[in-house]
Amino acid sequence: MHVSRRVILLGSTGSIGESTLDVMRHMRALPDLDFELIGLGAGSRGQELIEQAREFGVDEISIADSEVAASLDFQGTMHVGPGSARELVESIAKPGDLVVAAIVGSAGIDAVLAAIDAGCDIALANKETLVAAGSIVMPRAAERGVHIIPVDSEHSAIYQCLRGSDSDREIRRIVITASGGPFRGRDRETVREATPEEALAHPTWDMGQKISIDSASMMNKALEVIEAHWLFDLPSDRIEVIVHPQSIVHSFVEYVDGSVLAQMGPPDMKTPIQYAMTWPHRMDGCSDRMDWKSLQSLVFEQLDHDVFPPVDMAREVIELGGTAGAIFNAANEVAVEAFLGGEILFGGIHDLVRQALDGIPVKQVHTINDIEEADSAARALVRERIGDMVNRPATMGEDK
Ligand code: NDP
Ligand code: MG
Repeated sequence: MHVSRRVILLGSTGSIGESTLDVMRHMRALPDLDFELIGLGAGSRGQELIEQAREFGVDEISIADSEVAASLDFQGTMHVGPGSARELVESIAKPGDLVVAAIVGSAGIDAVLAAIDAGCDIALANKETLVAAGSIVMPRAAERGVHIIPVDSEHSAIYQCLRGSDSDREIRRIVITASGGPFRGRDRETVREATPEEALAHPTWDMGQKISIDSASMMNKALEVIEAHWLFDLPSDRIEVIVHPQSIVHSFVEYVDGSVLAQMGPPDMKTPIQYAMTWPHRMDGCSDRMDWKSLQSLVFEQLDHDVFPPVDMAREVIELGGTAGAIFNAANEVAVEAFLGGEILFGGIHDLVRQALDGIPVKQVHTINDIEEADSAARALVRERIGDMVNRPATMGEDK
């Protein structure tokens, strides 16, 4: 069997982007595979982007940062500015192409929508797109007949395990595993005061800064519960979370007959990236293999919801529906930036997201404008509250 595909990689300079290029390098050497990279998009790391384009012979690229773009020497076509990833997709995507969506945050939404409109399948890493705009993205993909294949390791696991059944009605629930992050087993007070350095030190995964902070706060698991709700069309009470510190079992699907299917593998994003790219086929992989000789046991624990409340908030967001996901996601994005910038305590992230959910009325989603308005309102509210916190540091991080 011969598989050939044109690929556009958005967020190519990030952690997922670079792993995707590693997978592409590996696949170049495989017989029967012909994956051609035709477009690359980045945010601000211009030099890296140019080098990638050179290596892969790509002559159309996008870069969001216009100042950086002005300093670049590129012979091909370069789309520049905040809408540049969408413009790149609109310019080159054809039906049947694959877009790897690896931009971080809601900045990636419009390019994903453009890719769906162009008839491309999406290998989706950018979970914030579904959290904020799942109600627009999923129906549009179904209407256009394109596939959204998850890259997120837990969702890739579930996607793979779902091939063990031919009907959604046979699923009782899905169980998403969480590594527990760097603060597993800590108490609420020490977690609240954690530093960016501590929060960035993830025990099992090497990832971009935002998702590393999300993993430490358990916001990542909250985003993943909402992502799973959209991908697999399940209500929140059929999505469980369990802590599994080894990150070997990537998630489970429990069927109505009591069978539980799990997908396992060493923690390496190249496995789910390659699966999303070659789906529905499996090709020789480039990640480490399981070392069954050294594996003695698999460890599971319950999540401590008092120390890590975001997963409960995710259930609330799913119940609220409408623009709640956009508010939740945007508030978290701004809060994470503020934490990394030293403006707020780690515990302030949760407080600010809570305040955004409580302070902004949730509306129904009719168009993408409703999502954009909710996103902007949440960003404005959180920035304002951060200003208040900075002025009154004694109240910083207190429960409301
Ligand atoms: P990184 O921060 O490492 O990379 C983000 C990428 O997005 C970079 O290429 C960055 O460009 C680009 N980017 C940022 N802002 C913009 C913008 N406004 N317009 C265009 N491009 C932009 O993140 P990760 O690779 O870790 O994560 C990417 C996505 O994948 C996230 O949604 C994350 O949740 C998800 N994910 C990541 C996993 C991982 O292991 N890393 C695992 C599962 C999901 P530049 O750097 O040039 O500024
Ligand atoms: Mg994940």
